[in-house]
Formats: sequence, C-alpha cells, structure tokens
Amino acid sequence: MYKIKMTTPWWTKKYGKGKICAITNMRLRPGKNKYNQPYSIFLGCKHGFYRSALMSWVLTKPDISPTCPLCRQAFDPLVVFVPV
Ligand SMILES: [Zn+2]
Repeated sequence: MYKIKMTTPWWTKKYGKGKICAITNMRLRPGKNKYNQPYSIFLGCKHGFYRSALMSWVLTKPDISPTCPLCRQAFDPLVVFVPV
C-alpha cells in the first residue's frame, strides 16, 4: 500500500515545514500553472495560501477590502493575483 506522506524530506528541504494553506488545509504547491500563475501565493504577512482558495476567499467578501484569512492584514488583490 502506497501512502503519500505529508512530510517528504525533499519538500521540507526545499520549501520548509509548516507551509500549509489555512483555507484548504493542504500543503502549498510550488510552481506555476499553464497560465503562468503561481499555485501558491504569499501575502505581505508571509502567510501562504493556494491561489484559487485565496481568490475564492476574496470573492466571498466583495464589499470589504480583502484581508489575510489568518491574521487579517489587508492586502491588495491586484498586487497579489496579477503575476509580475
Ligand atoms: Zn497573514
């Protein structure tokens, strides 16, 4: 039986421990998709989230300025979601 471990050494070595998206509860994925968008996004407060999860989070609160789901620090969605 093959079980995927959440703490494979190469991942921990490359991306560090505890890089878990607080929205999806999944380990953050490095790299970019075919639209050249990063899978994971790190806000100014250093909290990381899945891009799609964070976007959904923002879209559920269209009337207020978006904040980090973890520490409530405000961020600019244009800066966060538009690839540089
Ligand atoms: Zn934060």
